[in-house]
Formats: sequence, C-alpha cells, structure tokens
Amino acid sequence: MDFAFDARTEELRANLLDFLTGSVEPAEAVFHQQLAAADDRWAWDAAPVLAQLRGQARHRGLWNLFLPGARGAGLTTLQYAPLAEITGRSLLLAPAALNCAAPDTGNMEVLDSFGTPEQQRDWLDPLLDGRIRSAFAMTEPEVASSDATNIATRIERDGDHYVINGHKWWITGAMNPNCRIFIVMGKTDPDAPRHRQQSMILVPRDTPGLQIRRGMEVFGYDDHEHGGHAELTLTDVRVPASNLIGAPGDGFAIAQARLGPGRIHHCMRAIGLAERAIERMCARADERVAFGRPLAQQGVIRDWIAQSRVRIEQLRLLVLKTAWLMDTVGNKGAHTEIQAIKIATPGTRRSRPTVRPGCPRTSGWPMPTPRFARCVLPTARTRCTSMRWPGPSWPGRRRPAVDPLTRTGSP
Ligand SMILES: Cc1cc2nc3c(=O)[nH]c(=O)nc-3n(C[C@H](O)[C@H](O)[C@H](O)COP(=O)(O)OP(=O)(O)OC[C@H]3O[C@@H](n4cnc5c(N)ncnc54)[C@H](O)[C@@H]3O)c2cc1C
Repeated sequence: MDFAFDARTEELRANLLDFLTGSVEPAEAVFHQQLAAADDRWAWDAAPVLAQLRGQARHRGLWNLFLPGARGAGLTTLQYAPLAEITGRSLLLAPAALNCAAPDTGNMEVLDSFGTPEQQRDWLDPLLDGRIRSAFAMTEPEVASSDATNIATRIERDGDHYVINGHKWWITGAMNPNCRIFIVMGKTDPDAPRHRQQSMILVPRDTPGLQIRRGMEVFGYDDHEHGGHAELTLTDVRVPASNLIGAPGDGFAIAQARLGPGRIHHCMRAIGLAERAIERMCARADERVAFGRPLAQQGVIRDWIAQSRVRIEQLRLLVLKTAWLMDTVGNKGAHTEIQAIKIATPGTRRSRPTVRPGCPRTSGWPMPTPRFARCVLPTARTRCTSMRWPGPSWPGRRRPAVDPLTRTGSP
C-alpha cells in the first residue's frame, strides 16, 4: 500500500498551506470584527475580507477543490482529503474562501450530478462562482428526521407546477439573505414504495409562501458566522414543475448520494481542527510552568499529548482509506467505512485533552473561533473530572516512548 500523496496533491497542499498561514489565519480576527460591525449579522459572506480571500484563492487555483469532474477542480476524493484537512484548521474562513463550505458543497454536487441544464445554469453556475449561497431543507420538527422516509412535507403536482406545504428546522445557512436557493425534500407520492415517496425540489428564497421563522442555537451559539440554522415554513409554495431535481421519487436516492461526500468532508476538516488544537496545547504546555518546570515536562501532560497524536493519526488513516474506497468502489461500496468515520471522528474530537488551567468554562484562552471552543471545551470538562478522580486505567498508563512535543502531524 502506498501512503504517499501524488504530485498534484503535494503541489496543492503546499499552495494551500501557504495561503492558510499567510492570508487566512491572519484574517480570522478581521472577519469577526467586520461581521460584528455589519448591519445584518447573518450576512456573513458580505464581509469584505472574505471577498479578498476568495479573489486570492481563485488566483492561486484553489477554487472549488471539492468538486470532481470538469466543473470543479477535478480532484479525486483521495486528492481532496488532505486539502480539506488543511481548511479545517480555519474552519469558518478557509472552506468559505475556497468555495468549499457546507452546505453549498453538497448542494452543488446534487445539481452537478442530477440537475437539468437549466437548473445548472440558473443555480449551479452562480454557486460555483461564489455569488450566491444555498441551503438543504430536509429535517422537520414533527418527525424523526434521521430516518428520511419519515419526512412529511408535501410536494403536490398542480398542472405545470408543484405546490409545497411543510415545516422545516435546523436549515443551515438559511438566515443569510444571500442564501438564494433551497433544495427542499418532501413527499410527491405517499403511496409509493417506502424509498420512492420522496423528491427534491428547488425553491428560490423569494418564492411567496416560504417564510423564515427564526434562527436556532446550538449550545448557545447561533452560528451567524456561516448563516445560522433556520426554522422555516412552506405554505402553498408554488414553483414550476421543472424545478424538480431528477424524477418524482428520486429524492431518497439523491439524499443518500449527497451524504457520502458530505460526511467525509466534515471528517477531514475535523482532523485539521484537531491538529490546530494540539498545536495550541503544545505551545501552552511549553510556556506554562507548574511545580518548577513547564507543563510540557510533566509526565501526565506528555501522555495526553501523545495519546492525542496517536488517535488523530489513526483517524486520518481511516478517513484516507474511506476516501480511497469512495474513488475505487464508489460511495455504496464504501458505505461501512463512511459510517465508521462518522462515528470515530466526533468521538476522537471529543476526547482531545486540554492543558488549559482552571475551570475550562472561564474566558480568556485564545481561541480562533467560538466553534473551535465548542469543539474543545466539552473535553476539558471531562479532563477536569479525571484529574480529581482518576479512572482505573489512569495510574497504570505508561509514559510514551516517543517525545510527543516534537512530532507534529500533517499538515
Ligand atoms: C448544527 C446542525 C445543523 C443542521 N443542518 C441541517 C441542514 O442544513 N438541513 C437539514 O435538513 N437538517 C439539518 N440538521 C438536522 C439534522 O440533520 C437532524 O437533526 C438529524 O438528521 C437527526 O434528526 P432529528 O433531529 O429529527 O432526530 P431524530 O431522528 O428524532 O433522532 C433523535 C435521536 O435519536 C437517536 N437515533 C436516531 N436514529 C437512531 C438509530 N438508528 N440508532 C440509534 N440512535 C438513533 C439519535 O441519537 C438522534 O439524535 C442540522 C442539525 C444540527 C444540529
């Protein structure tokens, strides 16, 4: 098995790392300042610094890297994997700067694979150009939406139109006024076989009857830095029949096709975020002194860092294997591995330790973004508890033979 990246991937990695450290990371604070001063806090993609970064990314050939085929950069999943990881280091800004941010990526993939030429002209082209944003509206408050066959929104044929009635929530990006198009999932035929009842249809934002009700919060964060998560209603929303994506009943299959790449992209970015967290942990451990020596020289801290490094490396290899399978045997063939990374990645991210002193809920630790904090802090609480009441495996854990502070991961 060859674990090396090919020449094109290496070239893009070098280019992207240079862009990330030289332009994107220094712009993080500016982005937040500009957003805080904006008239509409949800209009995040109007921040001038983002437009500058997007121009640079295009110029560098780092645009639409996620999309295989002629319309995108033409990369395989395996080639894109280490690049998405790098973008995860600046989670709010880098994917958006490269036009590689969810949920647009999944929506563009759907339109690229299943859209008609007219749908592609009207919606895919402006999305690929970064002029508009989009949302994917599937989840509903009234039904358990992890099972998409439950979706109850009705899409009913009426002459040359479809009429849509339903209630959606957690619709990411929808609070942003520049989110111009919604891919809505609903039922066109409740009497069809279970997996042929659903369809997807394009609903432009300004269609009468589509009403954005409110922005929702996750652990107290409204995520306005990438368009929030909206609750919305569709009341007698009428769109041309030509807005249906694929044939009536294709919705479930399209949703499955959309989920595979979406999940692996999230996992790749999460690994990049974890790498940045470890770097900060190491820097902190180096500078902080307790009981006469830096934290970095305390055995327990070294053990935490080593465990983190090993787990991230394990995860990276599993994600790369999944990417390779998606390229070689397809998303269906890689189904088990896609499920595995979906389980393993959040689990590993949750278990990242922190060497931050005191109660982890206090403010002042330099975090790049609230989301970054949200990813790391739950872990910190767990570790605080562990320090007071060590678990049975705690005293027995051996100090690692390698020096965890000297080995930084990829990138
Ligand atoms: C930040 C965020 C962004 C989101 N963005 C979008 C978006 O853009 N578009 C969109 O349509 N939706 C979005 N969602 C919604 C998300 O897709 C749903 O929450 C998810 O599909 C689960 O559906 P549900 O909330 O109805 O939970 P339910 O289906 O009611 O499930 C409840 C719980 O039951 C458990 N459960 C379910 N099935 C199983 C099973 N087979 N085995 C074991 N346990 C199970 C799970 O723990 C689950 O959390 C978002 C959610 C969040 C939090």
